[in-house]
Amino acid sequence: MKKTKNTIIIAGSCAAESLEQVLLSIEQAKKRKVDFLRVTLWKPRTKPGFEGLGEKGINLLIETAKQGVNPATEVLTAEQAKIVMKKLFSKVPDTKLLLWIGARNQNHFIQREIAKVASSDKRVYLMVKNQPWMNEDHWEGIVQHVLEGGISKDRLILCHRGFAPNGVNPNGYRNIPEYDMSMRIKDKTQLPMIFDPSHSGGSVEKVLQIGKEATKHNFDGFIVEVHHDPKNALTDASQQLTWEQFDELVSV
Ligand code: PEP
Ligand code: MN
Repeated sequence: MKKTKNTIIIAGSCAAESLEQVLLSIEQAKKRKVDFLRVTLWKPRTKPGFEGLGEKGINLLIETAKQGVNPATEVLTAEQAKIVMKKLFSKVPDTKLLLWIGARNQNHFIQREIAKVASSDKRVYLMVKNQPWMNEDHWEGIVQHVLEGGISKDRLILCHRGFAPNGVNPNGYRNIPEYDMSMRIKDKTQLPMIFDPSHSGGSVEKVLQIGKEATKHNFDGFIVEVHHDPKNALTDASQQLTWEQFDELVSV
């Protein structure tokens, strides 16, 4: 994918791990002019493990913003959204912030509450991923719920991360993309739709493959997991790209 004025590129590690790791990410993000850097503080996991630095990692978002890079993190509750916004903007008022609702967070009440908090500040963008199971109605419903929360359409981004395989999976993807469905949702909602080759592909080889395949569709950008030392990443080690591999996928 080639970065143009209208494409949205979000990149960075699966989880924010330490100051050293985030500083290395910032350095690389700056060279490539990514729109938002993943500095993810809360990580819902399939099975218990490292679940992110949580609130004590907010200083890493602040550091990112101080260096002129817009930070992005998943939030699981409206409280988390509030605390990130309050602490970040009190230190760096002129940054943008991307918050997102992940695939596993399918409580519509919480989705609306997060959207309501995000809608209260024009510096905040909200991204919403599709749910893990394949169902077009449910996906449309998520979008309707967050709009009910009051988020303005010009600060809302949708993201397709594929659907969990249900038995049949000849390509071995971690989550199987439904390109046509994602394009229908994009058309119906008139919202930007970006693609997540990382959680869809699940391994470096497949991330690169699926990322190239996805460029045949009308996506408005990518969110990609990139780590300076993927093998030693604390989460999703098998699918994180090096920055050189990221450059194969996205030219910025
Ligand atoms: C993520 O993007 O960090 C993530 C956990 O992905 P998903 O919510 O799509 O599983
Ligand atoms: Mn991940």
